Amino acid sequence: MKAVYITGHGGNEVVTYGDRPKPVRMPGEVLVRIQAATLNRVDLYMRNSGAGITHRLPQIMGLDGAGWVDEADASDTWLQPGQAVVLHAGVSCGRCEFCLRGEGVLCTRLQLLGEHRDGTFAEWVSVPAQNVFPVPPGLSFVQAAALGVNHLTAWRMLFTKGRLQPWETVLVFGIGGGVSLAALQLAKQAGARVIVTSRDPAKLERALALGADSAIDGSREDIGKAALAQTGGRGVDLVIENVGEAVWAAALKSLVRGGRLVTCGATTGDQPPADLRRIFIRQLQVIGSTYGDFSDFANLLQLVGKTGLKPVIDSEFELSDVHAALDRLDSGQQFGKVALRIQ
Ligand SMILES: [Zn+2]
Repeated sequence: MKAVYITGHGGNEVVTYGDRPKPVRMPGEVLVRIQAATLNRVDLYMRNSGAGITHRLPQIMGLDGAGWVDEADASDTWLQPGQAVVLHAGVSCGRCEFCLRGEGVLCTRLQLLGEHRDGTFAEWVSVPAQNVFPVPPGLSFVQAAALGVNHLTAWRMLFTKGRLQPWETVLVFGIGGGVSLAALQLAKQAGARVIVTSRDPAKLERALALGADSAIDGSREDIGKAALAQTGGRGVDLVIENVGEAVWAAALKSLVRGGRLVTCGATTGDQPPADLRRIFIRQLQVIGSTYGDFSDFANLLQLVGKTGLKPVIDSEFELSDVHAALDRLDSGQQFGKVALRIQ
C-alpha cells in the first residue's frame, strides 16, 4: 500500500512516500481504509528528532485520520464494513491503574498512532475496535480527521480540565494553531466569551470573523495589561496556552483571582519563572493536559453532530505531496489544519 513513513530523523529526506506492507488485522482490531488525515506539530517533531518517543524505523507517520471500516470482527455488532469512522490515536493497555479508572490518556503503556506505532498517512491502518468512532453527520473525511487530535486536546483542556462555564471568559493564546482554533470554536459553542492573542494581525482578523469576542496583538500590546483592560480590570477565568515560556508571565497576569491556566505545550521553552507568590496569593490553578480520553472524544463528536461545528481547514494536499504539506505546517503561516487526501 502507499504510505508516508520516516526512515530516520532530521531533514525532509527522511520522510518517504512509497510502498509499505498492508497491515494485518488482529482479532479485536478494525482495518480502516483511510480517506483523509491531517498534520500535527508532532509530525514535524518525528521528522526532525523523535527523541524520547519509543518507536521503530521505518514508521508510518500520522496521528489522526478518518475513513471506511474495511474489516472488523464478525462478532462486533457495532461496526459494519463501509461505515464511516474517525480514529482516536491513543492505544492504551486497558489494564493499568490509569486505564482502570477510565483515564486511558494517562496509560503507562500508551501508544500513539504515528508516534509509537504505524499511523494514518497510509491507505490502511489497523487499530483496536475501541479506537474507532462514527463520523458525525455532515462532516467530510478531512473535517472528521481534523477533530482527532486538536479538537480533542482543546476539549479536554476547556471542559474536562478547565471546567469552563458559559458565563466565563477564556483567553486563548496563539490563535491560528490547531489547538487554539479548536479552543476558540468549542468555547464559543459553549457560550463563553473568548479573547484571542496572536502576533499576526491577519490571524486576529480571521479569528474575530470566526466568533472571537476580542483580540490582543501580542506584537504591540502587553497581553497581561490588555487582558485586564478588556475584562474591566478583573482578569479572565481560564487561560488556554501552549506557547510556553514567551507568554507565561503574561498568561498568569491575565488571570482573575482563583483563575485556571491549562497548558498543553511549550513551543517557546518549558522553564519560565514560576511566579509562585502570584500563584498562591491569588490562588491560581496551573493545570497540565495532553490529548484526550475516549470519553472526551465521544462527547466532542456528540457536540459536533448536534451543532454542525466544522473544523477550520487551511489547505489540502495529496498524500504524495506530503513534503509540501509539512512545509506549510512548518511555515507557521497556516490558519487551521493542513490535510492530506488519501484515496
Ligand atoms: Zn493502561
